This record gives sequence, C-alpha cells and structure tokens, in this order.
Amino acid sequence: MTVAVLGAGVVGVATAYYLARDGHAVTVVDRQPGPALEASFANGGQISANHATPWAGPATPWKALKWLGRTDAPLLLHLRADPALIAWLWRFLRNCTRARVRINIERALRVALYSRRKLAEIRGETGIHYDELSRGILHIFRDPAEYRAALAQVDLMNRLGCRRLVVDPDACVGIEPALAAARPRLIGGIFSPDDESGDAHAFTTRLAEVAASLGVRFRYGAAVRRLIASEGRITDIALTDGERLQPDAVVLALGSQTPLLLRPLGLRLPVYPAKGYSVTIPVGGGRDAPTVSLIDDEVKMVYSRLGDRLRAAGTAEFAGYDDTVDQRRAGFLLAKTMELFPDCGDPAEATFWAGLRPATPDGVPVLGPTPFGNLFLNTGHGTLGWTMACGAGRIVADLVAGRPPEVSLDGLDIDRFRRT
Ligand SMILES: Cc1cc2nc3c(=O)[nH]c(=O)nc-3n(C[C@H](O)[C@H](O)[C@H](O)COP(=O)(O)OP(=O)(O)OC[C@H]3O[C@@H](n4cnc5c(N)ncnc54)[C@H](O)[C@@H]3O)c2cc1C
Repeated sequence: MTVAVLGAGVVGVATAYYLARDGHAVTVVDRQPGPALEASFANGGQISANHATPWAGPATPWKALKWLGRTDAPLLLHLRADPALIAWLWRFLRNCTRARVRINIERALRVALYSRRKLAEIRGETGIHYDELSRGILHIFRDPAEYRAALAQVDLMNRLGCRRLVVDPDACVGIEPALAAARPRLIGGIFSPDDESGDAHAFTTRLAEVAASLGVRFRYGAAVRRLIASEGRITDIALTDGERLQPDAVVLALGSQTPLLLRPLGLRLPVYPAKGYSVTIPVGGGRDAPTVSLIDDEVKMVYSRLGDRLRAAGTAEFAGYDDTVDQRRAGFLLAKTMELFPDCGDPAEATFWAGLRPATPDGVPVLGPTPFGNLFLNTGHGTLGWTMACGAGRIVADLVAGRPPEVSLDGLDIDRFRRT
C-alpha cells in the first residue's frame, strides 16, 4: 500500500517508521527543511506517563482566573474573537469535572504507558541514542493544597499501572542531590521511577534516518495546501510546489495545524495551539545541574538533563498560531531555573525557544479513523507528544493496515467529539 504521512514531527516520523516496517511505500511531507523543527524541536524532554493528568480539572478555571493579567502566569489566555478558541474553551470547561478527569486520565495513560514500552523497543531495534536517561521523574511540591490534590490521584495512577511513590523532602534530595539548596522550601514529592527523559529532536532525526534506510521518502520544504476528497475518500494531496500525491492512505500528523486542513473537508477537530517555552543552558564541567528529570509543581515547569545541557520548559499560552519568543516569558523560565539550581550553568549562554502544543480540550490525543475511509489522524497529543509518539505511531500504523491495535481505541478517536 502507498501511504502519505503529513508532518515530520516526532509523531509523524514514529508513524512512518512503523508503516515502513509493515512493508508499505511511505512518503513523509513537511514544510520544514528537516524533521522535528516545530513543536518537537526543544520540548521539555520528558517521557512522563505520570503527567497524564489533563490540564482540565476542577480547580483549573479558578486558577486561570487568579492568573489573569499576570505576565508570569503559568497559563495565559489572550481572549480574542476566535471561534475555534471559544469552542475549544467551552469543551475544556465541560472536561473540568472530577468524573471527566478520571476518564481522561485513563485514556491518556493508556497511550502513554503503551508508548513507553514501544520507545524501549525502538531503542532495542535501532540502537539510536538521543541523550536518553532512564532515571525516573520526580514531581516536587511547595504548596500543601497542590500536594494534597496530587496525592489524591496517586492511588488511581498506581491502579492504572503508572508506578508512583510518595516521598518526603529528604528523599527528594536523596533522589536528586542538586535539590539540596531548595530543601527548606520543599514539602514533598511524588517519584515515578519508570519514567524517562531524552531529546525529542535528536530522537526524531535519528529515527527519520532509520526510516529512510527502510525506504521512506521524505519530501521536506513542501507544505500541504489542500486535501481533495471524492466519494468518502481522499484522492489527492496538493502541495504548495505543485506536486500532487495520490496515496492509498493518508495519516495527518501536522500537530496544531491539523484542524486547518480538515476544516475545508467539513470536519471540525478541537485541537488548538497551546504555546510553551523552553530554555536550554549548557552545563559546564562539575556544575550542580540535576540528572533526574523533574516537575516543579509551583511554577508548572519541567527540567530534563540532556547530555551536557539542562532543558527547562513550561507555560501555556493561548495566543493563536504565533510561535515567536516573548523575552519576558522566556526570561521568567530562566530566572526560575537559576533560582532552583543556582550553579547549574551560565545563564548568559542560555538559548530560548517557543513551540505550539497541539492541545485537545480533554488532554487525550485524537487517533485513528475519520469519516473519510482512507484518512487517519495522529494528533492532539498536547503536553505529552514526545511521551506518546511511539505508541500512537504504532496504533495508527496498525489501523492503516486494518489490524486491531494492541491497546483499545475506545475514547481516543474523533468520534468522542462528534458525540459530545
Ligand atoms: C514548551 C513545550 C514543552 C513540552 N514538553 C514536553 C515533554 O516534556 N514531554 C512530552 O511528552 N511532550 C512535551 N511537549 C509536547 C510535544 O512537544 C508535542 O506534543 C509534540 O512535539 C507534537 O508532535 P507532533 O509531531 O504532533 O507536532 P510537530 O512536532 O509540530 O510536527 C508537526 C509537523 O507538521 C508540519 N506541518 C504543519 N503544517 C504543515 C503543512 N501545511 N504542510 C506541511 N507540513 C506541515 C510542521 O512543520 C511540523 O514538522 C512540549 C511542548 C512544548 C511546546
């Protein structure tokens, strides 16, 4: 079968790898000159099944109100007359109940845990390296109310197969000695020993090389202009350079851009760009930078050690498709990093980046079939696209081949938005 995978982010490339392994003739199209140059470029580096708790929760609307007007707020909403944003926010609010949170955690965790296993398999199959570390992820807390709320979910996550250990402040420093200076401010932590970290851009670049060696053709520097449908199938893909592709099957993995190509087909997909920032600091020899990946709950930031660099990432900004770096927001991340790890590296050498997470209102990706018989979706992974890419790639490749995936698709496809 000929298959076109549209998008060469971590999600598209993982899908193309599995499709090629299945023996299909695969073409990957991306508007950028190489793989993983948009949302997958400089993300937080965490393979964090433990982070499957969606943004939409009972306390989120109140927190968002409290943060309104604060330029250093972890979540920033630029209220604008954008019907897609308004519709997205409405669905988001409807997912803020306790009952919905439980359902959404199970769905996201199902993909994340499966994906962690698939990532380990790919490592074994290909031997690729990407500054990977399998040292777990430690979630640290300074606010008692936030800690109580997180502890309430530990049992559920453990029951669903995500091993989480409650640890006191001394144990936090035992797990990550670079937290010693922060010890007096910590009230506790939750450690997920099976989670991992690594550089998503390096992984995607290397996996794309492996995929190319399996016969995948990469068409870089060409944007997809339009999908043309007839009789319930996609017949043509029009590229901006005039080329037309006519594959047997199409996988849409365009990250936050995916809804823009679906809309002319009459399909509304509630995926909206949630802008985030990262700062990368070179770690000089012997400096006091962490090696265990961390989540700092108070400022909603994550930290990952990527070889001789420390990556810090965070903030969610709903500002349409603008991915430029606001120096004030980026500077806030750098300041918080230096506060937590004063001797981690030279802040003057830090580099900044911003990217658009493809966010769904329920925090669950959108995988699989559409009303068009040969069109499949692999998008909406939000904060967990790196965590979920390998599993989601395998699931969608199975569906393209007409095989049932190894994990249930229940609640993961676009139908859940058509029903509610
Ligand atoms: C600040 C930040 C921190 C994050 N931290 C983490 C983390 O620690 N762990 C984690 O699991 N996830 C994290 N994420 C989320 C993760 O990075 C994303 O979910 C993931 O990269 C999405 O991958 P993707 O392949 O779907 O999208 P992308 O990487 O954006 O890929 C989509 C591709 O489609 C291409 N494209 C778009 N439109 C067109 C078009 N019309 N024609 C041709 N090509 C097109 C783009 O060029 C792009 O290459 C973070 C994200 C951000 C922004």
